[in-house]
Amino acid sequence: PKIRPQAPQISPRRKSRQIMVGSVPVGGDAPVSVQSMTTTLTSDVNSTLQQIAELTASGCQIVRVACPSQDDADALPLIAKKSPIPVIADIHFQPKYVFAAIDAGCAAVRVNPGNIKKFDDKVGEIAKAASAAGVPIRIGVNAGSLDKRLLEKYGKATPEALVESALWECSLFEEHGFQDIKISVKHNDPVIMIEAYRQLAARCDYPLHLGVTEAGPAFQGTIKSAVAFGALLSQGIGDTIRVSLSAPPVEEIKVGNQILESLGLRERGLEIVSCPACGRAQVDVYSLADRVTAALEGFPMPLRVAVMGCVVNGPGEAREADLGVASGNGKGQIFVKGEVIKTVPEDQIVETLVEEAMRIAEEAGID
Ligand code: SF4
Repeated sequence: PKIRPQAPQISPRRKSRQIMVGSVPVGGDAPVSVQSMTTTLTSDVNSTLQQIAELTASGCQIVRVACPSQDDADALPLIAKKSPIPVIADIHFQPKYVFAAIDAGCAAVRVNPGNIKKFDDKVGEIAKAASAAGVPIRIGVNAGSLDKRLLEKYGKATPEALVESALWECSLFEEHGFQDIKISVKHNDPVIMIEAYRQLAARCDYPLHLGVTEAGPAFQGTIKSAVAFGALLSQGIGDTIRVSLSAPPVEEIKVGNQILESLGLRERGLEIVSCPACGRAQVDVYSLADRVTAALEGFPMPLRVAVMGCVVNGPGEAREADLGVASGNGKGQIFVKGEVIKTVPEDQIVETLVEEAMRIAEEAGID
C-alpha cells in the first residue's frame, strides 16, 4: 500500500533491520503491515483457508494459525501452499511443531519464551533449520505466560520483565548466529505495553510486532489498540500490527487498517468526514452518514466525502472534500472538488453522491 504523498509525516520510523515474512517485508523502510490470526481449527483445512480468503479480501497481509496438535501440524503444508498471503505458525511448548512448520513451508514461526523452556536446548537446531529455510522467528512474549524465573524476579509482568524475556530469548538465537527475528512484548494494559515497546525499541534493532493482548470485546479492544498503537507508531515504533479483539478476525483487520490510515501510514480509502450533529442539524446526520458509508463501501480509490448537517460548517467542510453534501431545508447542496454542482431533495442525496463518486472514478480511469 502506498503512503499518501501529501499527508504530513508523523515521526520518522525507528531504524530496524528488515526481515521477510514470505513475500511481505517487515521492518526497515517497509510499510507497516497488518496481520491477524485464524479462529478455525487449523486441522480443518477448508475452513481455515476460507477464513484466510476472507481476511485477505479485507486487507490482511500476513496470517497466523495456531498449531497445538499433530493434526494441526499435518494441515500446515496445504494451508501454507494454498494461502494467498504468508502463513505464520504459532507454536507453544512443542519444539517438534517448529520443525514441522518450517518443513511445511510456513513463512515464519512464532515461539513464546514463557513456555519455551523445553525449547531452550533446541534453539541451536531451530536456528539451523530456520536459517536453512530462510524462515524468520517471532519471539512473542506475552504477559499472561511470562517466564516463571522473570515473574519471580519482577513480581509481575512489568515492562522490564517483558523486555528481559524477549532479549534473553534473542540472545539464545544470536549465540547460534541467528538474527532473522522479530519481537512482540504484549500486555493487556496499553500503558505497560507502550512502555515495554519503548524500552525494547531502544535496546535492539529487530523489527517489532505490536499488539495489546486480550484487548477485550470489539469496542474496548479497538480503543485500547488504537491508543497504544497510535502512541507507538506516532513515535516511529512498530513494523507490523495485530489488533486482538474478542470478535471475528476480519474486524481486527478493519481496525488495524483504519489505525494505519488515521496516522497517514497507509493510503486512505473511503473517508467519511461527517459532523456529530447538534441543535442546528437540519437532517438526520447519523443515518445519512451510515447510508453514504454503506453505499460507497469498497469504493476503488481514495475518496473523502463530507456529510454535514447544516450550512454553518457544512459548505466549508464539503468544499475541502472530494465530494460532499451540506444539508438544509429538506435539501442537500452537493459539492464536487469544492464547487456546488447541484441542490437535490433530501431523499436523493445518497444516490446523487454515489453517481458523482462513480464519475470521479471514471475520470480517474478506474472502473
Ligand atoms: Fe451542527 Fe451544522 Fe456543525 Fe453539524 S455541521 S455539528 S449540524 S453546526
